Amino acid sequence: MTPRTLLISDLHLDESRPDISAALLGFLHSNKGRCEALYVLGDLFEAWIGDDESTDLSQRVAGAFKSFSESSQLYFMHGNRDFLLGPHYAELCGASLIPDPYILDIDAFSIVLAHGDSLCTDDNDYIEFRNMVRQHPWQKDFLSQTLQQRREFARRARQQSQTATANKASSIMDVNQQEVETLLSRKGKTILIHGHTHRPASHNFELQTDGEPIQASRVVLGDWDKSLWYAEISAGCIDLKQAPLSS
Ligand code: MN
Repeated sequence: MTPRTLLISDLHLDESRPDISAALLGFLHSNKGRCEALYVLGDLFEAWIGDDESTDLSQRVAGAFKSFSESSQLYFMHGNRDFLLGPHYAELCGASLIPDPYILDIDAFSIVLAHGDSLCTDDNDYIEFRNMVRQHPWQKDFLSQTLQQRREFARRARQQSQTATANKASSIMDVNQQEVETLLSRKGKTILIHGHTHRPASHNFELQTDGEPIQASRVVLGDWDKSLWYAEISAGCIDLKQAPLSS
């Protein structure tokens, strides 16, 4: 069989959407032993307040990932919703945590993987919030609070984000093209795969260099809501695929 590598993101797993967790379990089951690796590029969960909160959902998902990880490599990158997902839960899942950005060398490709939120630099309020909550002292302080306090913080943060999002121009919440090009140039790569924006697409553009401009591409994974989305790297191709949530 041709080796396959799969990438997904933005499942936003939540007790209120059993159809999405069922779709994940189905996805893992049907790809078990049929791919080399699966990369989860963030926002696996709608909210994550610490590995010490264990729910039916988190346990079921961990069990399915663990079984999947027996025959394929499994990697988790943090998203803006689940950046507190820690090594304890990753281990339960049989997953390795990878940094954002991360370089994936596979076949003839050398690809930059990112969640995508750090590229949305037009959204100043969000970037400010991100800079705060990604600091170790802030996280240490937050994780020292009771589960109840943390749940309350997460609830308020989500509410504020919904209100803010409703009032922001749609373009502000997309990636900034200059930021994309800067990231690729800094890493010396021409391909980026990310999620976060919920705007699944493959974009081709020219990357300015010191010499001739070179062709570059950006593949955006979709969020799991009405469909499930994944990217598949196989036989020298990167394909963005969509499938029904329930089959
Ligand atoms: Mn996100």
